[in-house]
Amino acid sequence: MTDPPVNKIVIFAVSGLESEMLTRVRLDIDRIFYCQTEITPLSDDLTYALDPARNQYLSASILDRLITLAPGHVVKAIAIVEVDLFIPILTHVYGEAQMGGKACIVSTYRLGEGVSLASETYFHRVAKETIHELGHTFNLRHCPSKACIMHYCRTLNDVDRRPDELCRYCKVLLDDEIERLAKQSRLSSANGNNINRISGIKKNVSQSLPP
Ligand SMILES: [Zn+2]
Ligand SMILES: [Zn+2]
Repeated sequence: MTDPPVNKIVIFAVSGLESEMLTRVRLDIDRIFYCQTEITPLSDDLTYALDPARNQYLSASILDRLITLAPGHVVKAIAIVEVDLFIPILTHVYGEAQMGGKACIVSTYRLGEGVSLASETYFHRVAKETIHELGHTFNLRHCPSKACIMHYCRTLNDVDRRPDELCRYCKVLLDDEIERLAKQSRLSSANGNNINRISGIKKNVSQSLPP
């Protein structure tokens, strides 16, 4: 039996998403997380997550669904949807992630505000939010540095100003987490279980911490 693909992240995408945008997102995921991606269509019918009173979609419900939909060989799963997402304590969210878990989600609903949906700025926003939410699934928390993609953003101005790179400190944390996942994967592989394999990942991380 051949081994399943390694270092894979699945992107669940609803039907209306631009292929150019998906290409950008895939390149950025490879650049930051050293992971290949595969695209799987996500049903446009998300009514199971709809809160009729708010006319918004509960992101946690979609995350739960993603876990059941994600193929066993992928390390992470991200959904990119077009509906307006919320969590109960906030009016809306651009995305949500399971900290250190498998699934995260990004909504394009508000990311196009004030710009053309064909613009570089819009694509950039979607790609940045995708990296940010995936970063949480790799156990990265919000970073105090404004020069880091893990910095918390409340507004689109914040998103536009935030760079699409991890700071050196978060890069080290990501490297540690990838190392941990690789070790875990080798262990389960040794036990005859190839699920969630993550191996052969490129190392590209500065070992020194910022002052
Ligand atoms: Zn965040
Ligand atoms: Zn950082």
